[in-house]
Amino acid sequence: MKQGSLVFAGVIGIIFSAAVMVDGVVRDNDKAIRKVPTTHKVVALTVDDGPHNMVTPQLLAVLKEKNAKVTFFVLGEHAAAHPEIVAQEVADGHEVASHAYRHRFLSKISKEEMIEELDKAEKAIMAAAPKPVLFRPPGGAYNDAIVAEAELRGYTTILWSVDPGDWRRPSVSSLVENVMNHVKPGSIVLLHDGQYPLPTPEALGIIIDRLREQGYSIVTVSELLQYYEVRN
Ligand SMILES: [Zn+2]
Repeated sequence: MKQGSLVFAGVIGIIFSAAVMVDGVVRDNDKAIRKVPTTHKVVALTVDDGPHNMVTPQLLAVLKEKNAKVTFFVLGEHAAAHPEIVAQEVADGHEVASHAYRHRFLSKISKEEMIEELDKAEKAIMAAAPKPVLFRPPGGAYNDAIVAEAELRGYTTILWSVDPGDWRRPSVSSLVENVMNHVKPGSIVLLHDGQYPLPTPEALGIIIDRLREQGYSIVTVSELLQYYEVRN
């Protein structure tokens, strides 16, 4: 194990123990992270279910124009279908993470199937990106066994704290307002790029501008984890 990996493992260890200690700040005592308690105005935008050959390039163009980096929780089967888009996400400086392979609810299938979902996704992602270190269970459906298997494979399980329901195709303005009304320092915002059309690409540029107007920095989830502060 390289020294950098050891340092990272240490940071994650601190996060987990703090998550248990700081009751009411991070509600989870089961090692899944919904948000990061911090006084810094940092927020992570996350994009699930892609890559999609229409929506993801639109998102990447907006992100390049705004010079903002996000975390893509890609589905393994979509990564296998569009490895060139995953490679573009990496080339543009975004973080690529795992959303398992086929969007099955991992809490409703056997342990063997659950492990296969994790491992097949990792293999598909690694055809075009570095080994992912973050994992988000499809539908947010998880339990201790899923988090433990993910951890064994070097993943931190990440959920979200702001869910504007972009996949239901609200208007651009209501999507923007929903995010802006709920975002706080340390928020993890859930967006999607797995279907077409979505209001998300158009809304994303406005969301980034509005967040920056309010003094927020937009960071990847791995960067956000470094802002973890224990509050008493
Ligand atoms: Zn999903």
